[in-house]
Amino acid sequence: MGRVYVSKHPLIQHKLALLRDANTEPKKFRELVREISILLAYEATADLALQPKDVSTPLGCAHSMVLNEKIGLIPILRAGLGMVEGIWEMMPTAEVWHIGLYRDHRTLQPVAYYNKLPVSPTVQICLILDPMLATGGSAVAAADILKRWGAKRIKFLGIIGSPEGVQKLEEHHPDVDIHIGAIDECLTPEPQSPDDPPKGYIVPGLGDAGDRQFGTG
Ligand code: URA
Repeated sequence: MGRVYVSKHPLIQHKLALLRDANTEPKKFRELVREISILLAYEATADLALQPKDVSTPLGCAHSMVLNEKIGLIPILRAGLGMVEGIWEMMPTAEVWHIGLYRDHRTLQPVAYYNKLPVSPTVQICLILDPMLATGGSAVAAADILKRWGAKRIKFLGIIGSPEGVQKLEEHHPDVDIHIGAIDECLTPEPQSPDDPPKGYIVPGLGDAGDRQFGTG
């Protein structure tokens, strides 16, 4: 059974406050996404399997432990891209497989437009990276794709979630652990005027995570 882990880590909470701030510039925003992602990955990988390995030090033999699982990082394009770099530095032998999903703004349904996964799984554990778990549609679709591919162990790493998104991912994929920095209040409703934000954004959230990273807002 998957579990929902809302991080209580003070560093994550502090960095989240900076990230949410509408005055945070894209450069700082990208740095924060990177740092929060590393901290989330640290928490999410606490149960990875190890195997013993004897290592020769200058003074003798150290009975050591090394990772026994091949990790796949699966950023959902495009907002998930900013989560890769920092995590990859912590686990440089991980494979990175991109999945392109965009949200149809009318139906809010995810539409897959990019997926170059090889024919059969090459990793034992997949970490889906997407900063915003809003409606949950993209996360569910990504986990669907990975399971069809043959992935046996999947975890979802996100920076902010909505109650709806977390519930949807739990319902569709109860075996997928969810690691998230915060769960916010709700999603935006259908806009009533041209000034209203689009439907399905997390409130209070941080706005559009892709636009804020890439300076396209
Ligand atoms: N995607 C975003 O970037 N922000 C949201 O609030 C929801 C989806």
